[in-house]
Amino acid sequence: MLRWVGVWDISQIPWCCDSTDPESHQKHGGPMARYIFITGGVVSSLGKGLASAALGALLQARGYTVRLRKLDPYLNVDPGTMSPFEHGEVFVTDDGAETDLDLGHYERFTGVSARQTDSISSGRIYSNVLEKERRGDYLGKTIQVIPHVTNEIKDFLRIGDAEVDFMLCEIGGTVGDIEGLPFFEAIRQFIHERPRGQSILMHLTLLPYLRASGELKTKPTQHSVKELQSIGLAPDILVCRSEHPIPDKEREKIALFCNVRKDHVIPAYDLKTIYEAPLAYHRAGLDQAVLDAFGITPAPKPNLTRWEDVMDRLTHAEGEVRVGIVGKYTQLEDAYKSIVEGLTHGGMANRTRVKAEWIDAEIFEREDPTPYLDGLDAILVPGGFGERGTEGMIKAAQFAREKSVPYLGICLGMQMAVIEASRNLVGLKDAGSEEFDVEAGAKRFTPVVYHLKEWVQGNHTVQRKVGDAKGGTMRLGAYTANLTEGSHVAGIYGSTVIEERHRHRYEVDMKYRARLEACGLVFSGMSPDGKLPEIVEVRDHPWFIGVQFHPELKSKPFAPHPLFADFVRAAVEGARLV
Ligand code: GLN
Repeated sequence: MLRWVGVWDISQIPWCCDSTDPESHQKHGGPMARYIFITGGVVSSLGKGLASAALGALLQARGYTVRLRKLDPYLNVDPGTMSPFEHGEVFVTDDGAETDLDLGHYERFTGVSARQTDSISSGRIYSNVLEKERRGDYLGKTIQVIPHVTNEIKDFLRIGDAEVDFMLCEIGGTVGDIEGLPFFEAIRQFIHERPRGQSILMHLTLLPYLRASGELKTKPTQHSVKELQSIGLAPDILVCRSEHPIPDKEREKIALFCNVRKDHVIPAYDLKTIYEAPLAYHRAGLDQAVLDAFGITPAPKPNLTRWEDVMDRLTHAEGEVRVGIVGKYTQLEDAYKSIVEGLTHGGMANRTRVKAEWIDAEIFEREDPTPYLDGLDAILVPGGFGERGTEGMIKAAQFAREKSVPYLGICLGMQMAVIEASRNLVGLKDAGSEEFDVEAGAKRFTPVVYHLKEWVQGNHTVQRKVGDAKGGTMRLGAYTANLTEGSHVAGIYGSTVIEERHRHRYEVDMKYRARLEACGLVFSGMSPDGKLPEIVEVRDHPWFIGVQFHPELKSKPFAPHPLFADFVRAAVEGARLV
């Protein structure tokens, strides 16, 4: 039986080629990975994550194996407890880590599944160090940033270095931030301790443009390089973000003042789409400069067909469909980063553009949803936490079900679809989720969605209690689901066994299964022990699917997730019928 575990199994997509060659690492002279550290200066949000991901893709295009890693200076142990408004989406890995959204970029560009150990925060480092101290591991010693914290960071950096040709480590924040100092110091030591030529530093900066004088200014770049130098680090490559073309003489000046070769000063201009980044960075000479800095000559020739195909699909799309995203964090697109990308990939699979229409679910708690939803080609209700906006999501699910509009409910979006059907089809007028009855003893709802307290992971049982700590206690990471033969989803996946990533605390109660199924809401995907519902679908509807997991986390531009590809196909078809 074909098992859908991720992108590499979607062989039916003819333009999905797999350039990850397991033998490659040996071929290119393992066992020790070469390290590329990526830092930023001048301002934040320069696109370090994207530059790292694009470089990873370019090294793969030259036949190398890569792993990407993010080092975040904040003191949270992981971003799992941060508000999406604060930090954007939380990206979940197969092995259940709640990580920064940059790891989503890494996976979307390289297809390499991130691991727990690819996301490291100061909080995690300090928490490990303090745990060791309490255990007595350092008995007799005074615990200090150098060497104890820096050693802990270096131990993390080394994990898996015998597995790949290149390890790309991005440091969050900008050089000079107080929180980042232990990471920079650890990198300094790490580079120094490795054999010469085994590690390089790539630094991203900004060249601001002064309209009055019509000039690009290099001084902030010079200052940020000085800042690096003052802590013992020297960049090998400078990536300079600029809204204007960088004249040759400015590149020369940067090279001279920053002690970097001129051909290692790489211009990075704004792009129409993030997926242009690998080709744009290649044209700018980034991968060549990196191989050069490692002394790899002659550099293996790149095969860029994957990215040329991606760009061809993006730039030669016909028509457009409008997908309404009815959620609660709609003011910040980054909160739904992977969903937006998943829809884009779905559009690419159908050679169509997908326009996301952001709708704040709370509006429907005051107003009739019809004027907002009428005319949309599909409706998506994404994941979320807490009660705010949920009555609006329920109305959106009802609209989609009654008006035969394609509906994709993700996690909370699935739970809301079940509550809607329980209320309006089964007749449980006060159906709701235990998540919303937060006040002790409050019983405002009949809980068709309940607090999950026990489940099976691999071959052990996980248990939770009300009042457990919030961080890392959800049902997280990849779990298998069995799909009903002949169901809509089994057809879409082309398989009856799938593996998808989860992040939830609540679950639809199977007590109501028979009544819901009698009304047409079918449970077509279940956990292997048959206890936890994973997928619901409406039987007599062109496309109505709710999933307890997050398919968006596994979608790639070169291998769109089947659910997103088929959801957009349904939207295109529906649009054609009108
Ligand atoms: N809040 C819901 C739960 O914990 C849904 C979570 C989500 O959408 N990721 O089950």
